[in-house]
Amino acid sequence: MVETDERTPLILDAGTGLRALGSHLHDSWEHDEPFRARLLLTHLHYDHLLGLPFFRPLEQSGSLLEIYGPRQGDGDLASVIDAAVTPPFFPVQMKEFRGDIQLVDVGDEELTFGSTTVMARFIPHTGATLGFRIESNGRSMAYLPDHQAPLEGDEIAAAVRELIDGVDLLIHDAQYDEEEFAEKSNWGHSTIRYALEVAHQGNVGTLALFHHDPAHDDDRLAALEHEAQVSAQGRSIIQVLSAREGMSIELSEQKDA
Ligand SMILES: [Zn+2]
Ligand SMILES: [Zn+2]
Repeated sequence: MVETDERTPLILDAGTGLRALGSHLHDSWEHDEPFRARLLLTHLHYDHLLGLPFFRPLEQSGSLLEIYGPRQGDGDLASVIDAAVTPPFFPVQMKEFRGDIQLVDVGDEELTFGSTTVMARFIPHTGATLGFRIESNGRSMAYLPDHQAPLEGDEIAAAVRELIDGVDLLIHDAQYDEEEFAEKSNWGHSTIRYALEVAHQGNVGTLALFHHDPAHDDDRLAALEHEAQVSAQGRSIIQVLSAREGMSIELSEQKDA
């Protein structure tokens, strides 16, 4: 989740972490008006969508979740998500939740939520996938959790350059090491080395390595984080870290929550 001066929470994707976040938001909502949140959805792969039906505020009538997700080639976003959240995959359909869900089809465009601006751009992955750049109060971050590195060379797509240019924080796909990428180079993801290259060329402040390979345990991730930090020395990136569950990052300083 991204916290800004806006009262309405801004959530990034709807993976399994959405269940715990939903409970937290539900318990800590202190405003007089009904619950409201916005969710930026990069794409519809399961690992980015499975938490949606477990988002607790949807159990309450009057609550509203606005979802901004990638325009699909055929069918609108609502019909595609309806087809995923329905029996026999889940006991109820989206329309049966007590809370309201508004789905907004997004392409290459800019969105404005109060004093927060969001740039959305289609980026290389598999299927229609957005990356986001979020700016608020003079701070900026980019979120590219799933990004296909080029099969050869280090070219960076123009859309990606726009999203990441000079951001304080870049959360970027870093699923594979070089050996793994050689085996799975067209699976839609990046290497840690390519994530560093993107961050370097984009003059990014902090790079958070993200979308870890499920086969990497904590020790392996710590070793990869250390390697990345060594590789970043002498480059323009100020800080590299491996994203962890429960971590919170303030744009000038970070701490474990
Ligand atoms: Zn994906
Ligand atoms: Zn993914």
